[in-house]
Amino acid sequence: MKIYLNGKFVEKEQARVSVFDHGLLYGDGAFEGIRSYNGLVFRLKEHIDRLYETLHTLMIAMPIDRKKMMGLVVETLKKNKLKDAYIRLIVTRGEGDLGLDPKKCYGKPGIIIIADKIKLYPEEFYQKGMEIITVPTIRNCAEAINPRLKSLNYLNNILAKIEASNSGYLEAIMLDPQGYVAECTGDNIFMVKNNILSTPSQGRLEGITRDAVLQLAKQRKIEVSERLITRHEVYVADECFLTGTAAEIIPVVKVDGRVIGNGKPGGLTQAIMKSFRYLTKKDGVKYQVS
Ligand code: PMP
Repeated sequence: MKIYLNGKFVEKEQARVSVFDHGLLYGDGAFEGIRSYNGLVFRLKEHIDRLYETLHTLMIAMPIDRKKMMGLVVETLKKNKLKDAYIRLIVTRGEGDLGLDPKKCYGKPGIIIIADKIKLYPEEFYQKGMEIITVPTIRNCAEAINPRLKSLNYLNNILAKIEASNSGYLEAIMLDPQGYVAECTGDNIFMVKNNILSTPSQGRLEGITRDAVLQLAKQRKIEVSERLITRHEVYVADECFLTGTAAEIIPVVKVDGRVIGNGKPGGLTQAIMKSFRYLTKKDGVKYQVS
């Protein structure tokens, strides 16, 4: 496996970072998870834009522009001869001293690109739907660490994931500080009631898959509502599903022990899953693997 690390491609065993890198010391940096499907990188520009926006707020000055970064992602896929892959793009603050002041870092961000495979959930969940719960850990809020920042500091989500996992679940709903549904630990959430597709308007990551689903829904003339959503509304919804780059679109059939709709993946969910699959086959930055 060839990994892009600070300007060169190295073998996995040689891909090592400094123990003084603030990405490691403080989770100071940003990342993206990107997918390629049959030689097409899905929504690459959108991922790179989101990354650069997070870096802008973190005040990490990138030595390369967005176009060059897109090129490096494609090059990593080609070097590894991968047509279908999950790409992890990481930018760290870089090396510094043991204090947390970014100004004392040497101003050279660490850039890492790994292309591999990912499988989050068993295939059965895509057919039959999954069961999730709500966990006590509250999602970071805009007043603290804005959940729109896809930073390397994922402890908020990890604490929630531990709670889910301790209870025997693979994914969980996180609420915002006001008690509204925010998102899941690594996925956005949607619900359908009376043919209206709703998803939380705030307190969550601006998911690339979420955006794709909203676009698909609008094309299909499905009424869409981005708003505040309570858990009660999810419990009494006709359908529920999650979206994410790794998870894609996964139906949810039970939340906190409450059966959603008829307990099976809903019709609209299945239609969106199908449209999304089609989209990944035609929408993306093309590359050739020799
Ligand atoms: N929310 C969180 C907290 C995430 O980490 C992710 C990405 N795994 C998502 C939502 C989904 O975003 P995307 O569709 O861009 O992968």
